[in-house]
Amino acid sequence: MSLTLKKVSNPAESLGLPADDDEPHDSATVDAWRTSLAAADASEILQWALGRWPGRIALCTAFQAEGSVLLDMAWRINPNLRVMTLDTGRLPQETHDLIERVRWRYGIRVEVHTPDSHAVDAMMSTSGPNLFYHSVEGRQACCHIRKVAPLKLALKGFSAWITGLRREQASSRAGVRRLEIDPAHGNIVKLNPLADWTHEAVWTYLRTHDVPFHPLYDQGYTSIGCTPCTRPVEAGQDQRSGRWWWEAAGTSKECGLHFARPEASLDDASREATEEQLTRLGRS
Ligand code: SF4
Repeated sequence: MSLTLKKVSNPAESLGLPADDDEPHDSATVDAWRTSLAAADASEILQWALGRWPGRIALCTAFQAEGSVLLDMAWRINPNLRVMTLDTGRLPQETHDLIERVRWRYGIRVEVHTPDSHAVDAMMSTSGPNLFYHSVEGRQACCHIRKVAPLKLALKGFSAWITGLRREQASSRAGVRRLEIDPAHGNIVKLNPLADWTHEAVWTYLRTHDVPFHPLYDQGYTSIGCTPCTRPVEAGQDQRSGRWWWEAAGTSKECGLHFARPEASLDDASREATEEQLTRLGRS
């Protein structure tokens, strides 16, 4: 199907918001923006944000359904948007296949960020390649080294980032707001334009706009991450129950990118590897 690009002249002005940047951001400013944008839909929020921080805002996606919606929606507003993803080294081939499809479909560059090789070497040599199966701490350490630390590095210099978080996805996400201050990444702005979307709304958008989506959804997956830590779920199960399925009920199904700060629970070897990496990032 043909795609129509929406032209953006002065998106902030069209929404009655200031076009100038007033960094550094604080929570009161972001609260005020969120109030001003209360009636805006997801596309209008993206339009405002892409106009406000040109070149300094990125969509960060693991190419799950929500990320595919946002990529399509944002690309229609600005085909030059920056798209980044984290390649943990344990992704399914299908994710790489989708990245290729997306690159061709939209003609965009996908910025791929990989973990620090020294930190991965130390973690795997000390704790084994599958440390995530042995303890929650091991899993958190692996997620920290392969995801959390690379994201911190990737977001350096950005003013804002866009995520596909939705409140409906998990109880841990029930409090997600469409605009937030992000203290974990230097008080930049975190946009969750689909925070109030339902699962059905996501899939309606994908099918209506013929958006390429992850092929593992057709195999029963409802949330897709790394190969060894993700499996299909039965009908009616929680959307994220296929993630780290071996962990005890009640354990947070979060990797630390958005909510947890797992450094406190790392084992010694992983803590050492993590601290080494954070030192390189100037954050130890
Ligand atoms: S999802 Fe699994 S393999 Fe991927 S970073 Fe987390 S623990 Fe490691």
